[in-house]
Amino acid sequence: MIKLNGKTGKRFAAMLLAAAFMIVAAPASYADGPSGPASDTTIAESTKNEATGPGAQNQEQQAGQAEQQAGQQAGQAEQQPGQAEQQPVQPEQQPVQPEQQPAQSTAGLVASGGRYLDPAKPMVALTFDDGPYAPVGNRIMDSLEQNNGRATFFVVGNRVASYKTEIKRMHDNGHEIGNHTYEHKYLNKLDAAQIRSQIERGNQAVAAVTGESPALVRLPGGSKNNTVLANINQPIIMWNIDTLDWKTKNAQKTIQSVLGNVKDGDIVLMHELYTASGDAAVALIPALTEQGYQLVTVSELARFRGGLSNKGIYYSFRK
Ligand SMILES: [Zn+2]
Repeated sequence: MIKLNGKTGKRFAAMLLAAAFMIVAAPASYADGPSGPASDTTIAESTKNEATGPGAQNQEQQAGQAEQQAGQQAGQAEQQPGQAEQQPVQPEQQPVQPEQQPAQSTAGLVASGGRYLDPAKPMVALTFDDGPYAPVGNRIMDSLEQNNGRATFFVVGNRVASYKTEIKRMHDNGHEIGNHTYEHKYLNKLDAAQIRSQIERGNQAVAAVTGESPALVRLPGGSKNNTVLANINQPIIMWNIDTLDWKTKNAQKTIQSVLGNVKDGDIVLMHELYTASGDAAVALIPALTEQGYQLVTVSELARFRGGLSNKGIYYSFRK
């Protein structure tokens, strides 16, 4: 058993207070594993916190004076909230109460895709075409999810059945799946019925796995004419940063093409099929996050930057 003399007792009480705060604060979080919510709420104040990422950090900062007095010992207590449950924390709860407010203060933040977004802060949509392709796509998603990021994957319909697990992961983890046609045909070379077929079958291939039909279309090669536009009744998503990753297959060049140009509201074009593109993505994702960009899906970007229409063609979304 622990004997409490005056000094130890005071310290122990502070530890309990900190631990109790953890428990009280926990439900305010938007659970999303290690890349979790508490760091989301710090986006507004500090992108550095988000990059280093410990969910406890924000709660720690807001636990108030008692915790500051407890210093490092309190940090240890936070890691063992179970202890507090076994102890009578009743007397400590009162001072915790008023401090709850800052922890719950998510003013201006919007829950989306399993984390919080701040519409007032910069956003970028990374888009990856021509997949699915699990060896690269899963690396990209690993990095995104570690950084509270999401992306849009414009997939080719006839590849979807070969990568069902990857497609399900995209869908389940808040990424967006867009339609890049069924066979990656250049639609400006097709007639109306063929164009419609490419789009419909692309939508159906994804819906067969996820239960959800893609909202957005990306044209292979960006190729369009009046027949194409007349026969697609979904928003067409172009891009304003073309990394040319498919051409250079050089991660460093791909990284530079983004970091040297990126602005709020941009749509970045990359491809899922190449290892070098995956290498570039897993470097870009933490780098952009560190710079304060929220990595969002195209639909999220549209939601916070003016919306979408079914006959619209979009290159970027500005405030
Ligand atoms: Zn393509």
